[in-house]
Formats: sequence, structure tokens, C-alpha cells
Amino acid sequence: MAKISNSSRIINALAKYDIHTFRDVIFHLPRRYLDMSYTDEFKMNTNEKVTLKLKVTSAPVLIKPQKVAIIRFTAVSELGANYKIVAYNQRYILNAVKVGNIITVYGTINLRFLELTVIKLFPRVLSTEEQFSPLYSLPSEVGNHEFIKIVQKALKMESVTSRVPRPLADKNGLISLNDALKRVHKPRDLNDVFDGLRALKYEEGLDYFIKLLLIKRANSELINSKKTIVDLKAANEFVKRLPFKLTKDQLTAVREIGYDMNKETLMYRLLQGDVGSGKTVVSFVALYINYLRGAQGVLLAPTESLAKQHYETLLTFFKDFGLRIELLIGALAPSVKTKLKEDIQQGEVDIIVGTHALFSEDVLYPKLELVVIDEQHKFGVNQRNMLLNKGEKADLLLLSATPIPRTLANVIYGDMDISTIESFPHTGRQVNTIITSSAPKNVIPLIEKTLAEGRQVYIIAPKISFGDKTNVLTLYERFSARYPHLVGVLHGQLTSEEKDAALLNFKSGVTPILVSTTVVEVGIDVKSAGLMIIYEPHSFGLSSLHQLRGRIGRDGKSATLCLVSDEEDNYKLEEFAREDNGFKIAELDLTLRGPGELTGEKQSGMPGFMYINVIKDLKLITKIKEDALEVINNPTNPHYFPLLKLINESLTKE
Ligand code: ADP
Ligand code: MG
Repeated sequence: MAKISNSSRIINALAKYDIHTFRDVIFHLPRRYLDMSYTDEFKMNTNEKVTLKLKVTSAPVLIKPQKVAIIRFTAVSELGANYKIVAYNQRYILNAVKVGNIITVYGTINLRFLELTVIKLFPRVLSTEEQFSPLYSLPSEVGNHEFIKIVQKALKMESVTSRVPRPLADKNGLISLNDALKRVHKPRDLNDVFDGLRALKYEEGLDYFIKLLLIKRANSELINSKKTIVDLKAANEFVKRLPFKLTKDQLTAVREIGYDMNKETLMYRLLQGDVGSGKTVVSFVALYINYLRGAQGVLLAPTESLAKQHYETLLTFFKDFGLRIELLIGALAPSVKTKLKEDIQQGEVDIIVGTHALFSEDVLYPKLELVVIDEQHKFGVNQRNMLLNKGEKADLLLLSATPIPRTLANVIYGDMDISTIESFPHTGRQVNTIITSSAPKNVIPLIEKTLAEGRQVYIIAPKISFGDKTNVLTLYERFSARYPHLVGVLHGQLTSEEKDAALLNFKSGVTPILVSTTVVEVGIDVKSAGLMIIYEPHSFGLSSLHQLRGRIGRDGKSATLCLVSDEEDNYKLEEFAREDNGFKIAELDLTLRGPGELTGEKQSGMPGFMYINVIKDLKLITKIKEDALEVINNPTNPHYFPLLKLINESLTKE
């Protein structure tokens, strides 16, 4: 295979972002675009960013050669307006700019004084390509311009074929996938980006909806006429013995689930509710009902830490009920695992909690009748399907902490049944969100106060680090230096034992400060954590931030979320700080996202979409869904057959 670069520095750095081949390169789309196309002088507004072509009329002078170097000169536009140009700390301008030169200035305009503050200055006219350029999210070792060169090469080397059937592509006026990628990477303007993205979105959506509809269809045809009917009053025994009273919404969800489970047709229900709304315990009631009918149930979690936490909670809540509950994860010793698998196969285990190890081929469940999937958006459609293949007669309950409005949910999840928990348990929990700059004086007092209260502190490292200062290990070093022996660290590269130890020490307060990546985003429940500090919050989607915020204040006392941002524009974060309803935040996240701004992360909140913005693209996805239906309703159509075959094959693979 051709190497993507001759530099081992670049190769190693990109590998961290899972970019190994030219194919990976072309699917690493720009995060956003820098638009420096020349501005119409008649259409400028004060404080807006503009790009002007100017002729220099006075030589640049250094006004204040102290801390900040201020450079000033004047230049005239094509329309004859005379602009005062100001630049801060850009000393190269002194040599690069000469009277009579034609230059390009990209900057902020003040119309009252005709003053233009330089962001970037070029001593020439910009080519079309330079005027509209892609910005990629990259590891700090790789420059944007370096990556652009690799992309150019990759676009020449690689060719991809679209899976969209020709008639559908024609009907929807889609450009080819190759052209789409070219336009997204090398656009002349935003319209190119839109055309390119439209094709990519369609491709993604068609695949998603065909899978969804196929699974849904297969599911609704399945019935289990041998289900044992459970007297739901018996389930009440469990509810009564919980350490708290269920909320009204939780009780409604329990009832809906109970009815589903007593029906011949299989349950296919989504339970959605904000972080901390108490979905887990509702799924436990379902597991109990399932136990009462003499069947096995599994609870699938996206990470081992979360699986373990559920396992422990299950043991506590089911203490006096005589069920056998086991944990099945990849990290178990082989001998233990083998024994456990045998016991499962003998039907001796009632509830099995685990990660995707649950559906490895050699685990067989003789009487699996309930599958609960926590944080379901972390799993692909295929993975969900895999587990269902383990129990053809299993009811399915999906839990989702990125709630979306019901109308939207209906489009995205097919016509799945939905239970929603809107109200929170009244625990008095209150989280105050603040935004500060990275100066230690803003952060340290918060930490001291929280430690003095005997509560714990999360410090979260960014998803994408724009330098090494905020890398999880650097942050760990920095805080350990200040608080020797009080800091633990948690990230994906640790072994399972190391992760356990870190969480345990944090929970118990041995190391009351935990520096972590977003592994804690999903479901971790440490009651007395009172402060969370997030570095480079801009690198997270708002829904992710909200998930993180859900980790603190769980002891019912007030807690603080501190977003450390040195950026100028914190509008999104401010909106986020004001809002604490997960439904609204999910919407806000997508609404505030600019055109051509992609998440670049698969689990950005909405089910598995990289390109599609479920709010802004609602019209397009409704259209795609119709087309998907047309495809599965005409499986013998020669245009559709090959795609259906591919998708059917992929549904049985992980
Ligand atoms: P999520 O919906 O995010 O999965 P959890 O199920 O983890 O939320 O619940 C958050 C916390 O609230 C847990 O510690 C849980 O035990 C507790 N909890 C759940 N329901 C109630 C309730 N009705 N009253 C009080 N506490 C509750
Ligand atoms: Mg949860």
C-alpha cells in the first residue's frame, strides 16, 4: 500500500487520528472552512470579517514597540476608499508591505473610522483556491497546509464508488461520490461544499435507513407466542424495595415496558431521558420482569467501566432476590470466562452484564428474552442486530441519553415505540456552569474549595488538543505537581486493571482529583463529585458537554462545571451554560452548527451520523427514508438488488 507521507512524524501523528491510508485521508473531511473570498465593499457591516484587495498608500510604521507591537499604514481600495490598517504583533508586515504594492487583507472592519484590523495579510492577490480553504482537525504535529497536500495526492490516488442506485442518484440530482469528495476538500465556494455534502449525506442516510427498516421489518415479523405472561403486580415487589420512590415518568415507562413484554410481538422500545433522569433503574425493572418469566436477560454497555458499574448496582438492588447476575467483559481471565460461558449456556445465569464481548460467537444463551442496550447511540445498527441474533425471541429495550424531540425521533428511529423520562428525580441537584480563561487563578480556588468540602474533582482533557498543553498526560503532570498523591489519571490507553484502580481511588476519595479523557462521559456514577473542569470545551459537541455535566452534583448538592476557554467567541458555550434541558441542548447543538461545519465524530449525539445534521437536514432525511422504503419494497429490482445484498451481508458482520 502506498504510504501517505514520507515523514514518519506525520505518519505517526495521523495514526493517532486513525488515518492510515489514502482512503482514510479522503474521508477525513474539513472541520470548517476559512472564507477569504473578496468582499463587496457595499455590503460590509461593522465588526464583520472582510477580505479586501488594497493598494498601499503609506509605509507601515511601528507605533509602540513595547509589549504589543502595533503597526499602522494606509491603503486604498478599488472603489477609492482610504482604509487605516492596524496590525498587532505582526512584525513581518514592516518588511513585506511597500508603498504601491497590491495586498490582500483579511480582517475585522470598523466602518465609522474605516479601520481594518488585520487577521491575515498577504502581499499579493489571492488565487481562487486560497480564497476558500478547508480547515481540518488534526493532531498538533501536523500543519493544515501539510495535510492539504496529502489530501491533494489522495484525491488523485484514490477512487471511491457510490452505493446509491443510479435511478435514485439521478432522481435526487446527486453528484458522484468522487466529485463530492473533491468539492468538499477543494471547494470554490460554499455551494460546492453543499453539493458535495449532499451526496455524502444521502449515501450515509440511505445505508442507515435501509438497515433500520430491514431490522424493523424482521423484528415486527417475529413473535414469541410462548412468552410467559407476568403479573405486573409482582414486579412491584422490586420497585417497592428500591431505596427511593420512582418518579411519575419512570413509573409510566415501567408500565409501558411491562405491557410490551406481555405481548406476543417482540418489544422494540427506546427509553430516552436526560443524563441522570434515572433510566438505568427502569431497565432493571424490565430485567426483573424478564426474570419472573423464567428467562435470561442481558445488559449491554459501551465501556467496561460502565458495565462494571451496572454490575455493582445490579448486585446491590437485587441483593435479596436470589438472582444470579454475572459480568462478562473481554478483560476476564480466560479460565473464568470459559466457566462463565458454560454456566450461561446451561441457563444458570439470570442477568448478564457486559460489553460487546456479550455477542462473541461462542456465547450461547438458551433462553434469552430481553436485551437492554445502554447508551445505544454508541453502537451501530449492525452491532445491535448482532446481539438480537443471539436471541431470536428477545424483547429489545434501548436506552438513550441524547434525547431528541418525538417528531424527530419518529423519523430517525423508524416507528420504534418510545418512552420518555422528562422530569428528574427530586434530588436537589443543581449545576452551575461557568466559563473562564485558563489562568490558574480562575481554576485553583474552585479546586481547593471542592477538596475542602471532601468532594471530588474531574479534570477533562479535550477531544482534539490544539497543542500539547492540554493533553491528558500533560494536565496530569501539571496537577500532580501541585497536588502530589491526590491526582489519578484515566484514558483509553490504560489496561483494564489500571482503569479500575483509577476509578476506585477516585470514588473512595484516595485520589480526589481525576484527570481524564471523555471515557467518563458515559454513565459513570460517582456521587460526591462536585466540580468538573473541562479544557478546550470547543472541541466537544454540546451534547457531549451535557453528558459530562451530568457526572457532577449527584449527591444532590450544588456543583460547578468550569469550561476553560481562551477563545474570543464563546457564544455557543454561553448558550449552553444557560440551558440545562438535554432535549433543548441536542437541538441547540445542531442549530448553532454553521454551514459545512461537521462533527467529525460518529457519536456526536445523534444516532451514528457523521455528515447528516438531523435538525437542519430533516427534509433531506425524510426524502431518503422514502427512497429507502422504495428500495426494500422492490428487492428484485436490478438496480436495488446489489445494494440490498451488500447491506444484508454487512448486517451479519460486526
Ligand atoms: P441515567 O438516566 O443518566 O442513566 P441513572 O439511571 O444513572 O441516570 O440515575 C442517576 C442517579 O439517580 C442514580 O444514582 C440513581 O440511583 C438515581 N435515581 C434514579 N431514579 C431515582 C429516583 N426516582 N429518586 C432518586 N434517585 C434516583
Ligand atoms: Mg445511564
